[in-house]
Amino acid sequence: MTNRFFPGVVCLLSCATAFSAGTAGPPQLRLPETVRPVHYAVDLTIVPGKTTFTGTGDIEIDVREPQSLIWINATELNIHQAVLRTGGQTLTATVVPGDSNSVGLSFNAPVRGRSVLHLAWDGRISTKSSAGVFELTSAGQHYVYTQFEPTDARRAFPCFDQPSFKVPWLVTLHVPKEDKAFANYPESSQSDDANGMKVVHFAETAPLSSYLVAFAVGPFDVVDAGKVGKVPVRIITPMGRGGEAKYAAESIPELLALLERYFGRPFPFAKLDSVVMPISNFAMENAGLITYGQSMLLAKPENDTLHRQRECALVTAHEMAHQWFGDLVTTSWWNDIWLNEGFANWMDDKIVGEWKPEWNVDADAVKERMHAMDLDSQLSARKIREPIDSESDIANAFDDITYDKGEAVLRMFESWIGADTFRKGVQLYLNAHAYSDATTPQFEAAISEAAGKNIAPAFDTFLDQAGVPVVSAALNCGSGAATLTLSQKRSLPIGSQAPSPQTWKLPVCVAYQSGGTVRHQCELISDSQAEMTLPDASACPAWVLANDREAGYYRVNYQGDLLKNLLAASQGFGAAEQTGIVGDIAAEFTTGDVAPRTAFAAVSRFRDDPFPQVITNNLKIAEYTVGSLVSDDLRPKGREFIRDNFAARAESLGWSAKPGDDHDTRLSRHELVTAVATYGEDRKLIVEAEQLANRWLADRKGVDPDMLAEVLQVAARFGDRALFDRLHAAAREEKDPRVRSDLIRAMASFHDPQIVESALKLLLTSEFDIRQSLSMLREPLHYPGTRDLPFRFLQEHLDQLMPRLPREVGEDFAAALPAVADEFCDARQRDAVKVFFADKIDSYSGGPRNLAHSLEKVDACIAERSALGPEIDEFLRGYGGQ
Ligand SMILES: [Zn+2]
Repeated sequence: MTNRFFPGVVCLLSCATAFSAGTAGPPQLRLPETVRPVHYAVDLTIVPGKTTFTGTGDIEIDVREPQSLIWINATELNIHQAVLRTGGQTLTATVVPGDSNSVGLSFNAPVRGRSVLHLAWDGRISTKSSAGVFELTSAGQHYVYTQFEPTDARRAFPCFDQPSFKVPWLVTLHVPKEDKAFANYPESSQSDDANGMKVVHFAETAPLSSYLVAFAVGPFDVVDAGKVGKVPVRIITPMGRGGEAKYAAESIPELLALLERYFGRPFPFAKLDSVVMPISNFAMENAGLITYGQSMLLAKPENDTLHRQRECALVTAHEMAHQWFGDLVTTSWWNDIWLNEGFANWMDDKIVGEWKPEWNVDADAVKERMHAMDLDSQLSARKIREPIDSESDIANAFDDITYDKGEAVLRMFESWIGADTFRKGVQLYLNAHAYSDATTPQFEAAISEAAGKNIAPAFDTFLDQAGVPVVSAALNCGSGAATLTLSQKRSLPIGSQAPSPQTWKLPVCVAYQSGGTVRHQCELISDSQAEMTLPDASACPAWVLANDREAGYYRVNYQGDLLKNLLAASQGFGAAEQTGIVGDIAAEFTTGDVAPRTAFAAVSRFRDDPFPQVITNNLKIAEYTVGSLVSDDLRPKGREFIRDNFAARAESLGWSAKPGDDHDTRLSRHELVTAVATYGEDRKLIVEAEQLANRWLADRKGVDPDMLAEVLQVAARFGDRALFDRLHAAAREEKDPRVRSDLIRAMASFHDPQIVESALKLLLTSEFDIRQSLSMLREPLHYPGTRDLPFRFLQEHLDQLMPRLPREVGEDFAAALPAVADEFCDARQRDAVKVFFADKIDSYSGGPRNLAHSLEKVDACIAERSALGPEIDEFLRGYGGQ
């Protein structure tokens, strides 16, 4: 008896015989289109707490060309019965082992036309990874969930596991009588089976891709969140946690109603359940059965935080937007996955912005754009639309370029053609491809139809080339109308050399003030240089914002007095514009387009800014005074610079919320107080954090829930072994996954290297779920004295760590390991990392590209230090406080 992993697929008859029939090998990545599924009826027996499950299924297929060997996706499934009913005959199939992704079903004679494959199999319920069918526990109870995107439906049932195969599914689950069972569609009936199990039949679904099928089994609580139109909305939580779903149960129906209004079509499936998974930190848009990591959806009302509520609203809006954009209309292949993810990201900001205007979500969108641009500046950056030729390519496709650059590009084109026109295009696209699949060109065609002009040529310049445009803007004022000279090139970090010059068909929109009036002007710039006339500028404009509403996917490098004049007027701009103006300065610090002295002067100008997003970008500039580019002996001066600019405000905000604090104040506290304590090493704030942390560890009280993670982390940075032991004991006891995660992060944040080493060693024990604790590798990177410990830990312990990591394509934790090099800044360390991963990285799904990113970051840091270090040092040497 072997109950280990199923080693591929068992041959029932002779494998050699099957192969000798002259068959080709298993398909590479994609199945042939000559066999298409028409309908699935699958019946699974799922017992939470067991490590295996059994299944049977009838798959109706359409064999379009006669063939005696049919390939079907299956991973770690033991198929023990396979027959085909076709034209009144029943043919027995020989199961031919393929590779880890597929098996062949071989027949004695060619088959064709409509047929039904009847299969029986058993498979594995994973307790280690969250891919395929997996189990999580909560309060000692077992729960089974599924996660099939991108390619793990084949771990639950043999199937034609490609997004373009969209067909109805009839799902039946046999589960223990005391458990509840959920699937994409509502339960249609229940019965008992001969083995004393409950049989739950679910209604047949609308056509769905296999990656969107899902089920969940366990002793769940069900929270009724009412109906939106005809659609019942529920929150499904682990037993005893229903009371923590209050915020989700109130916000989800409101956001769903707003989405229905935007799309102009009702929710496309029969019901909407939101299912909570303990531990996990992801969410998945399964049609009608969305899964969420517990900390996204649940919180005890007394411990709830603004950050969590914002995250809850944004993530739920994202997953619900997918119900139309991804589930109702599915992108045909993974090369277009940006359209699902970029769109859902764009939509979550848009809808939550409409729902809570006071949250200034548009400024968060600018922050996300700038994050995407930082990644996209690298020479190793992916294009939004990359060919998908391997599983590694699929893993890489779910990166921040897909999500955040995708969103930013959609936002730019929406802004360019107008929000109402864009929405009309989105509706045309959905109506044309509902319950089917589509491609980027079909999306572009719909938007172009609505806009009355072909947007594809411009759009494609952002999809099919990596990189960020930087637009240099110079103002010319003479006798006639003022003009702007605009030139575009690729924005690159100092020291990087692009292989060839690049241009984009770039919609440049500007705002300017002329004669006391703010005016707007847009032009599509195709060449490397262009002139834009500012038509109503009777005199020279007082200021020009060359990225109107900060909606464009480009950086601006202001020439002459343009930056000075813009900064002088900046207090009058909204959160999004200010976030963009300061963000461009922070980014152009590292491209060499803005001198350090100019950037540091801007820090003082924005130090009292009320918007948290502006504060984040401003702190990014200020933190260059204590980062890797600075000589060690000048860092105390850098800390002084940070304190001089921000300590008074941070100390008056303090660690705890005050009655009447508004939304921005609460979020600003989060940014400012933490930074002044961490990077300014402000003694007063550090001592307060230590006191608060100790008090909280004693009675779990006295700390503002919004600030708990930061209080613990700051206390830890400057704390001792005794504090580490208390955090460790608390983390072991903690039931709330969010708080446990805060404690684990704090444990890896100590400045004392010996304590950090103790923390990292916990990754080799079963004390914490590795999916939650692996983040410990990141925290020590932020402090020079502990920066090399994560890499050293991998050098010494990789062999012990690897077997503990989830390694599925969609969830290969090994691929994230090169990030231990992200904060390195010298050639010796870079080379050591390169050598260390050289013979390993190809076996990590998505790993090679991640390693290339990390190595390029190190090179960029080395070049920045050599080019900018002396200037920053000189600024700090002359810095004498304010
Ligand atoms: Zn998504």
